[in-house]
Amino acid sequence: MNYKRLEIYTWWTCNQKCTYCMEYPNMQQAWNKKVTKYDILKKLIKYKKDWYNHVTYLWWEPFIHDVFLDSLKIWKKLWYKILVTTNCTTLHIDNQASKFLPFIDELFLSVEAISVEDQQKISRTKNYVNWEWVFKNIKKYWKWTLLKANIVITQDNKNKLFNLVEFLEANWIKNIAITYPDIAYKYYWKKYVLENISPTYTECITEIEKLVKFWEEKEMIIKVVDFPFCVFPKDKIERYIKLTDDYDYQTRLKITHKEDLLDRWETSPRMRKNWKKCKDCKYKKICWGPSIHYEKLYWLDEINCIKN
Ligand code: SF4
Repeated sequence: MNYKRLEIYTWWTCNQKCTYCMEYPNMQQAWNKKVTKYDILKKLIKYKKDWYNHVTYLWWEPFIHDVFLDSLKIWKKLWYKILVTTNCTTLHIDNQASKFLPFIDELFLSVEAISVEDQQKISRTKNYVNWEWVFKNIKKYWKWTLLKANIVITQDNKNKLFNLVEFLEANWIKNIAITYPDIAYKYYWKKYVLENISPTYTECITEIEKLVKFWEEKEMIIKVVDFPFCVFPKDKIERYIKLTDDYDYQTRLKITHKEDLLDRWETSPRMRKNWKKCKDCKYKKICWGPSIHYEKLYWLDEINCIKN
């Protein structure tokens, strides 16, 4: 059966307002818009007819949404494989974790900080995730297919990246994506973005470089997401490229021989694009370029065409 994945939302709200969150502006506008079990069912039946078999809960915090548990049960009854991304503010609570985890196949944890102070600084709330309890509940209630963590690098955690990855590895999470933040420039404006969200690409790569030996020794699966190729160390560029989504997408194209839902020349994937500087670059067909807002923050000095 063909792998067909669908993204679904059970509501437009979250119990956090992370400094780097792209969706926070939309959340404010959609707070009162409820999604009902009937909406979910309607969508379910519509996509089942088209042979969709994987569903992803991607945005906001699904565990706090009224219809989430019912929708998980519905999707499971119809044999969907379910992937959920979560900020884990519910998973450290035993009786909550026991209710939800049995229905979930693939679990993506958003992990930007460990300490209370750092968590509350980045989430801009008084919330606190007890990671020890989260990992205990995952071990206790979850049937273990794909467990992955996503770390968005921000100004607040860029110098703690090694500790974060080391902490996750020590808690048997070996599959980690290290992601450059989306720049919600229109909403947050320059000063806030520079101070709270986006380090330079070079600062991030310097921190990521400190991890390479560690993740190789620990045989970890690492993705380096949303970095233009020319910011990778020249002597390791081909190895880094294989860790990117840009490369995965190109590889998938080669395998599927069909344009995914995404036509690169029509839409800018992940708010990234190629610039004039990319014109003669040997990677321009694969690399999605820097963020469309990067020039406004740091100019494009780090972006240099690679001819051979
Ligand atoms: S010059 Fe452009 S296409 Fe080439 S690696 Fe850099 S961002 Fe990508």
